[in-house]
Amino acid sequence: MERRREIEKRMRKIAESFGYREVATPTFEYLELFTRKSGEGIIEEMYVFKDKSGRDLALRPELTAPVMRMFVNECSVMPKPLRFYYFANCFRYERPQKGRYREFWQFGVELIGSESYLADAEVIILADKILKDVGVNFSLEIGHVGIMRHLLKPIGEDRASKVMRLIDKGDREGLESYLAEIRVNEDLRDKIFSLLELKGDESVIEEAKEIIDYDFGHLESLSALLRDVGVDFTLNLGIARGLDYYTGVVFECYAEGLGAQKQVCGGGSYELSSLFGGPVTPSTGFAIGFDRVCEACSVEAGEKSVVAVVSFKGLESQAFRVASMLRERGFTAVVDVMGRNLKKQMSFASEMGAKYAVILGPDEVKSGRVAIKNLETQEQVVVAEEELFSILQ
Ligand code: ATP
Ligand code: MG
Repeated sequence: MERRREIEKRMRKIAESFGYREVATPTFEYLELFTRKSGEGIIEEMYVFKDKSGRDLALRPELTAPVMRMFVNECSVMPKPLRFYYFANCFRYERPQKGRYREFWQFGVELIGSESYLADAEVIILADKILKDVGVNFSLEIGHVGIMRHLLKPIGEDRASKVMRLIDKGDREGLESYLAEIRVNEDLRDKIFSLLELKGDESVIEEAKEIIDYDFGHLESLSALLRDVGVDFTLNLGIARGLDYYTGVVFECYAEGLGAQKQVCGGGSYELSSLFGGPVTPSTGFAIGFDRVCEACSVEAGEKSVVAVVSFKGLESQAFRVASMLRERGFTAVVDVMGRNLKKQMSFASEMGAKYAVILGPDEVKSGRVAIKNLETQEQVVVAEEELFSILQ
């Protein structure tokens, strides 16, 4: 748990250094919030239940929709852009396996109010920085769902969503047979398959221009800026993302050494505000799979040194007093609460890995002194109480 806290602390610190402020939303929401646009994949995976009044509720499977609901209800008139981050548990009815749990944690951000490539750049730089800082070895792939969606316009939005989902799953056979089922002509079919194969450096944009007439300016500007600031990435026009609400740039990070569940971060630009009754508000964000990051990263919890305050019988209040003095100075101090004798207190101090024992005996207490034993070296010194802190440093 200490390790998880350390990782969380680093993530928060970086997000805050970019000007993001923490938000919290309820653990469950009206089901409708998630069925409106999140897409079939998520709906199948949701924990849904009725409350006593028969309302349909769901445990949150993700936080973008809840944060945007909160934005519409409470913050839509605030000056833009708004920068929010969250760290929260999510619930999905999935088959549990390594890296895939029914309750898992996400660390995510939403940058609300800009449609510029600069907003996409900022959140990608932030995700990249967080993953690097916690020592995950990963690759970053950037795509743009607007391009494929544009190509799919002739088949209508619902069918396009289904196609996007099949692409996201990497189910090429399923895609092939679905396209046949809805009688997509050969030309469009070929274009879809060519587009989703495009992966590499910026030259794929030139190749994509051969396939589809689309304004690639946004993706070009974003790529150039990210190169300028030294973010390493691959363009992948086959990224579709499982959630339906993405509109433009999308990105995913894959960690080394995690096997099948290697996607540690997913994000992109979307528009949900108008769907929830607010003004049209282009936004962009990402969610990091916290549990997977903990699995893949190299952060170690800092050893917290503990001081055991050990006392003779009858000196318990002295022990409580000295311990509280130590805590005021920032030490972690523990006292005996088992009524043990001195010898047993000392052996417990060693067992729990305390670095020092501060020993209070009748003679020491009378003369305002304490004994300090270094439990690693077994050295013991007797000092005036005021000198205690300088020795324990
Ligand atoms: P996957 O394709 O692995 O199911 P996803 O596309 O469903 O991921 P998102 O909805 O984008 O994932 O969630 C963001 C991140 O949350 C993912 O990149 C992943 O690291 C993590 N995540 C998603 N589902 C789970 C889960 N069941 N258990 C643990 N982590 C998860
Ligand atoms: Mg999933």
